[in-house]
Parts: sequence; structure tokens; C-alpha cells
Amino acid sequence: MNTYDYFAERFLQSPARIFLEADSGEIFTYADVEQETARYANFLINLGLKTGDRVAVQVEKSPQAVLLYLACLRAGLCYLPLNNAYQQGEIRYFLGDAEPAVAICSPQNLAWFPALCDDAKVPHTFTLDQNGAGSFIDAASPSSTQFVTATSKPDDLAVIIYTSGTTGRSKGAMVTHGNLTSNARVLCDAWRIRFSDTLIHALPIFHIHGLFVALNTILLSGAKLIFHRKFDASAVINALPRATMLMGVPTFYTRLLTETSFTREPCKSMRLFVSGSAPLLLDTFNEFHERSGHTILERYGMSEAGMICSNPYDGERRGGSVGKPLPGVTLRIDGGETGGIEIKGANVFSGYWRMPEKTAEEFTADGYFRTGDIGAIDRDGYVAIVGRAKDLIISGGFNVYPREIELLIDAIPGVAESAVIGVPHPDFGEAVTAVIVRSSNGSTLTDADVISHVKTELASFKVPKRVHFVEELPRNTMGKVQKNILRQQFSS
Ligand code: AMP
Repeated sequence: MNTYDYFAERFLQSPARIFLEADSGEIFTYADVEQETARYANFLINLGLKTGDRVAVQVEKSPQAVLLYLACLRAGLCYLPLNNAYQQGEIRYFLGDAEPAVAICSPQNLAWFPALCDDAKVPHTFTLDQNGAGSFIDAASPSSTQFVTATSKPDDLAVIIYTSGTTGRSKGAMVTHGNLTSNARVLCDAWRIRFSDTLIHALPIFHIHGLFVALNTILLSGAKLIFHRKFDASAVINALPRATMLMGVPTFYTRLLTETSFTREPCKSMRLFVSGSAPLLLDTFNEFHERSGHTILERYGMSEAGMICSNPYDGERRGGSVGKPLPGVTLRIDGGETGGIEIKGANVFSGYWRMPEKTAEEFTADGYFRTGDIGAIDRDGYVAIVGRAKDLIISGGFNVYPREIELLIDAIPGVAESAVIGVPHPDFGEAVTAVIVRSSNGSTLTDADVISHVKTELASFKVPKRVHFVEELPRNTMGKVQKNILRQQFSS
């Protein structure tokens, strides 16, 4: 079934309900969603676009950008969201690789984006700005507000998401209608999302967390979004008393905790705080519980597979764990206790765009997808993510999982957070190196303190050979620590 119809069957039962309240005060009901997506879908189809044609979109977050995503699903087109941070080199590659029929950019990139579209022979280029205005909206406005949703099968392509790809070429993960509908259903059930919920949406919408997890669950439940253009801790705290849910990356939670106004009081109507996209520090998990009375529910997922694991809604939510595989997901660990996480299920994507060999490499002979994450499952079935396979350090022939050392270092008084990386070493191949942010309370911790502490707890091959102190760790927009940057910086 087409993902749009799957959602609309539910939300059109109450068309006058509010879908989205923007920070500008603008309101969109579900009837508006139906009409505006019809308008955009008609416009795109009348341009001559055919089923599966790509619509590449690099714009600021706005309600209209959400409607555009839905219009593409509805028209049977392939939505292709692009991170706002991407510059010319990256956009040139994506346009050439995806060959979109339409590309939509932010007006602030008009100096270069249309020229790249010309080079890539993209037939139609438009703009859309952060206030929801632009040549796309102007051109679409005369179109009809009636549209018959395209028929889509579960295997039909719905969205291409380019993975961040820190090494080699970025790959376009092909996400199908079946992936989107099944994952939305599973999450609504797992997290008890109902039409009475109100979610604070402060995530970017070019990434699965803000685009699929947050939007699709709300649409499927006919619930409401309080839509923030950007994450701002005090704006979120002001919105909490009117909300029931927040979905965030770990940095949202650490930033909320730096605000003195973040207490139990504004959280009274809240029912669920979800964290994902990067590991949540145990300190943050514990402090959040103390300050708000709420236990963050951590989940694990990726562009290629939607959501994979979640801590339970009712049972014990464990800090440092991403919970158990969601219903419909089969998960196994390759090679014993700690190893590569492999998964199977309706959530798993259909492959990398125009990379059949790369796709084949990432699946096992018996059809499991190799996530590239290293994990372990405990006796109760809870999964812990140890790190990315590419971040694994091999020192003197021993495998070293950075997460084990990071957890130990993070627990040392005077440490705010840490990242452990491998740097080239003439003897060991790679040397374990710790990069540490001291806590803000005037910590005078030294490298010798850290090394002597780790020595008492872990085997010598895991003890950092060097410790570097930095003001902050480099993170991408989803809050992931960019270890490739640290490796470059500290390799010498
Ligand atoms: P992306 O495709 O950009 O969403 O990135 C997916 C990757 O983020 C996963 O493969 C994991 O490495 C990481 N990730 C997502 N959620 C978590 C989590 N809760 N804890 C640790 N890593 C996570």
C-alpha cells in the first residue's frame, strides 16, 4: 500500500485535527495535509514525472518541506532529502548519481545550486525557503487540491537516503513503502503512540530520525506536532507543558540538562522521551532521571533499516543499552559474544542505489544485512552497541572495542565525555588513543590519572598510549562524534 494512504486512512478520520503547529504560530490541520499534498503531487505529475522519478530536496526545515515529502510519497515519486550542510562537491555527486527529475534548493544556495543542476541535466529546479515560500510553492499554487494517490506495492521505492559515508563514496539507501509502513506501525505499537499525543519535533528532516521516526508515527496516529525549526533548549522547555513526547539525539538531552529551568515541573504532561542516532551517555541517562523523573527510552536504528531495537515502554529501560530487537526484526551477532550486528526483517532496505555489488557485499548468504555496528546481547536479550566496525581498533593483533574504554573513562570524576580512537603505530599497527573533554567544574585531571585508572581495570593492550584533552568533540548534525576527524587530527 502507498505509505501516504496508509497514514491517511487513519488521520482523515478526523480531518479538522491539528497535524502541525509551527513556531511561527501557523497551523496545519490534517485536511490541509490532504489538500496541500494533492496540490504538490498534481504539480509534480503535470511536470511529466513518472513513478520512481527522484525529487532531490536540499532546503531548510519548514512545514511545506514536510508536505513535499508526503506529496512525493503520494505521487509514487522517490523523495531524496539532502543534508543542509552539504556543499557543492557533495551536491554535484548526489545530482550525478541520483539523476533527479526535480531539484529543490534553499534560496541562499542560488549562487551555485542551479548551475550544478544544469551540469547534471536536471530538468526542473525550484526554491523553497525556511518560511515555506519559493518558486516551487508559487508554481504549484494553481494546481488542484484533489489527487488520487498512486498505487504502490511494498517493494516500491519511496525514498533514497544517502548515508553519511565517512570513507569512500556515499551510498544511496533505497527505502521502500513497505519499510516505511511496517516500521511506523511497529513503533506506534511499541511506544503506544495515540492520536492524543503531541510530539515536540526539533530534529532535522533530512535524516531518518526526524523524517521517518518522528513524522511517520505521528501521521499514522493522527497525532500532533509542535514543530520547531531548530533545536533550542529553552524553546523546548517552554513547549514541554503542552506536549507528551520528545524525540531527540543525545545532545538534546545534555543541553536540556544545562538549563536550570529543566525540572520535573515542565515535564508533568510528558509521557515519553526517546533518544537515538548516537550513544546516550550513562551520566546523561541517570541525571535526566533525577532531574525530570523520566527514564529516557533509548533506541537504535539506521538509514538502511529504520528502527531495529528499542528499550521497552513498560519494562526496564537500561542506560547504556538500546533494548531488544523490535517485533519483526531478527537480530544476531556474528562471531560469538561481541561482533557484527546482522539483521533481517520488513524494516531492511532494498539495497544501495545503482550499487548492486556493494549491496551484495553487505548481505550474508542467508539474507541478513550487515549493519556495520558491533554489538553484544546480554542474558536478558538486551543489545548494547559497542561501536562501528570501522572504528574497531586492532592493536598488537588484539581487537579493541572503543566503547568499553570510553565507558570506563566517562565514569572517571572530572571527565565530561571521551572518544577512543586508533592511530597508526609502528609497533602495534594501531595505538589506542583517548580524546577527552574535561568536565566544566574546573577539573584538573591529567593524562597520567586517566592512564593509571584504565590500567587497574583493563588489559594493558586496551590502555591508551596517549591522552589528549580537547574543549569539545567534533559532532555532525545528528550528534554523532566524527571519529574520522579525530583520527586525522591525532594521527601524527
Ligand atoms: P544513520 O543511518 O545516520 O541513522 O546512522 C546509523 C548509525 O547510528 C547506526 O548504524 C549506529 O552506528 C548509530 N546509532 C544509531 N542509534 C544509536 C544508539 N542508540 N546508540 C549507538 N549508536 C547508534
